[in-house]
Amino acid sequence: MSGSNSMMGEGSWISWFLGLQGNEFLCRVPLDYLEDKFNLTGLETLVGNFSQAFDLILDPQFDNEDWGTVDTSDAEQLYGLIHARYILTTRGVEDMCLKYERGDFGSCPRVYCKGQKTLPVGLSDLSCQSHVKVYCPRCQDIFHPRTRCALLDGAMFGTSFPHMFFMQLPNKRPQPPKDKYVARLYGFQLHQKALNPSQTPEEEPKNSGPSLSQSTFGALDNSQASCPPWRRFNGI
Ligand SMILES: [Zn+2]
Repeated sequence: MSGSNSMMGEGSWISWFLGLQGNEFLCRVPLDYLEDKFNLTGLETLVGNFSQAFDLILDPQFDNEDWGTVDTSDAEQLYGLIHARYILTTRGVEDMCLKYERGDFGSCPRVYCKGQKTLPVGLSDLSCQSHVKVYCPRCQDIFHPRTRCALLDGAMFGTSFPHMFFMQLPNKRPQPPKDKYVARLYGFQLHQKALNPSQTPEEEPKNSGPSLSQSTFGALDNSQASCPPWRRFNGI
């Protein structure tokens, strides 16, 4: 954190916030976008203490001493929600494209994606639902980021960003992977059946007659014994 501390008194709140370790996925939202009230529509109800949070974001000479008693989390949440809107605009996509091509968002961990660069994505457009994930445009799957940015709120990027990115920049979309991993044992390809999980007693048909599991569970009725509620929930 020592590197980011030196920036605290030197510039705006945004510079300070973007300079914090773990915030490298975020891009700089331009002042004219922030000051256009249209871009803030509806955010007043989503962020506590909206006006103070907004003043803090626009502070050109942010000093932690002045704001010492103020909780900056509202400002961080508000900036994140504005950021999610900004990166869907043409300018925002261009800004994020520079970071994408620089590799700021990391690469896909799948071997056959061959180091394909990823883009950040949220699983929800609402704050505090889940942390940010990264989307691989080659295998079209999502992964946990392998950097400190993994702690950022997914709502700072939203659920649409990577798809808007490739909508606006279709020539950046990579070809799907040509190869797929094949499981082999001593050189022989495994049959699909061998790769399926083996049946557990809980998954046996209910009407299969008396079984060990029934006698083991004694007083429990048949449905509880064959599929306890927690087991059913975990299976979803
Ligand atoms: Zn991939």
